[in-house]
Amino acid sequence: MKETNDTMMQYFEWYMPNDCMLWKSLLNVGKDLKKLGINYLWLPPSFKSAGGINDTGYGVYDLYDMGEFMQKGSIRTKYGTKQEYLDAIKYLQRSGIKVLADIVLNHRFGADEKEEIIAYKVNPNNRNEVIGPYRTIEAWTKFKFPGRNNTYSDFNLDWSHFNGIDYDDRQKEHGIFRFYGKHWSDDVDKELGNYDYLMGCDVDFNNLDVVDDLFSWGKWFLNQTNVDGFRLDAIKHIRSSFYKRWLHDLKNETDKDLFTVGEYFSCNVDSLINYLQKNDEIDTLFDVPLHDHFKIASESQGHYDMRKLFEDTLVDKRPSKSVTFVDNHDTEPGQSLESWVKDWFKPLAYASILLRQEGIPCIFYGDYYGIPFKNIPPMKEILNIMLLARKYLAYGKQKDYLDDANIIGWTLEGDYYHQDSGMAVILSDGEGGCKCMNVGKNLANTILYDCTGNVKETVYVDKDGNGIFYVNGGSVSVWIKKDNMYNL
Ligand code: CA
Ligand code: CA
Repeated sequence: MKETNDTMMQYFEWYMPNDCMLWKSLLNVGKDLKKLGINYLWLPPSFKSAGGINDTGYGVYDLYDMGEFMQKGSIRTKYGTKQEYLDAIKYLQRSGIKVLADIVLNHRFGADEKEEIIAYKVNPNNRNEVIGPYRTIEAWTKFKFPGRNNTYSDFNLDWSHFNGIDYDDRQKEHGIFRFYGKHWSDDVDKELGNYDYLMGCDVDFNNLDVVDDLFSWGKWFLNQTNVDGFRLDAIKHIRSSFYKRWLHDLKNETDKDLFTVGEYFSCNVDSLINYLQKNDEIDTLFDVPLHDHFKIASESQGHYDMRKLFEDTLVDKRPSKSVTFVDNHDTEPGQSLESWVKDWFKPLAYASILLRQEGIPCIFYGDYYGIPFKNIPPMKEILNIMLLARKYLAYGKQKDYLDDANIIGWTLEGDYYHQDSGMAVILSDGEGGCKCMNVGKNLANTILYDCTGNVKETVYVDKDGNGIFYVNGGSVSVWIKKDNMYNL
């Protein structure tokens, strides 16, 4: 029996202004988010990044500066100061929310000085293929962190701690350059031949000094922040054995579970399963294949075969290892992995992650609050309804009716521990219609209504638990007990 359903929220989006004061803003919303059933909050990277206050935090410069030292033009980061970050974490934890820190270890940006390095240019579409003789390049690879002046750590980085870079400052030439004597890690994603290199100065995880520093940094970070777990960035570009050991080590150091979700951005479910087998210390991965299905369905004008919505997704193959999501900061319009799910389909997608038994759903700040910069409106109203339906009513045995190219549905029987629980969910990517579904005996002989407000009529469920449930075209309806004790 599940006591309460877990729900995660990604609390940022790409285009937030640089005066968003994100850490401080959390002090106003923590309790409200908890009331909606959100018990995991994923916060953006807290590290001083190359772009200073204009950097989302993924262009990491100094892992030991969380908005504390005058570096890259300011003391604070885009989201605030270190003290504000720590205050927000404490406050959220007191509100009953577990905080996940976003950890970005794959690369560095914004070096303090350049160095002369012997390097090979490689084919960007096959990184195993060298496409020129070795030559001397000038690369920005020396990190001395003068503003921090060795506080917390005296480990500085130079070219020997990296594998490669994407710019030769001598010939002002862009490309992927692998340093002489270095090789890409084998144990990474095989896309583009070898996907070790993503961007910036690619950290060499075969260099023992680097690895040692990241182990001691991890302990330092946990000690400073006391976070409850991690969202691990770009793991398909880092050898899996590194994070397996890093997590194992940190869990041994603390009595916390350290819940982790990894970003392995691939639509191929076998690649995700393969990673989970290699790194058994990681709890979950984001279900990118499911996000991909949402996107394709949303662009298919009703021609998507809804029977296949969950086919070959992580939540289907490894339900307990899946964090399901609709969109995130990288899939937003204009971003590196742009694959935005169209507006009309969003409520269908959110019902498909929030109102099912499997997976931990993660709702996106940009969907919940909207993205003003891109004129994308908030979905707060409908998401609040679905979040509360999840929190109070989405329990019991699930029965699937994934049997039609347009209209699919499922029911949850409810359970004894959650009063009035159980529901019927029905969605259509084509025309409206209905489906006979069985909601089980908890809701037998009751009247259900559509809490989304999309269909106004009510449905009577007979003594055997059968009802005929309606949905409008290109829409979703969530049928719950009419006189239930909650006000959704
Ligand atoms: Ca890498
Ligand atoms: Ca269809």
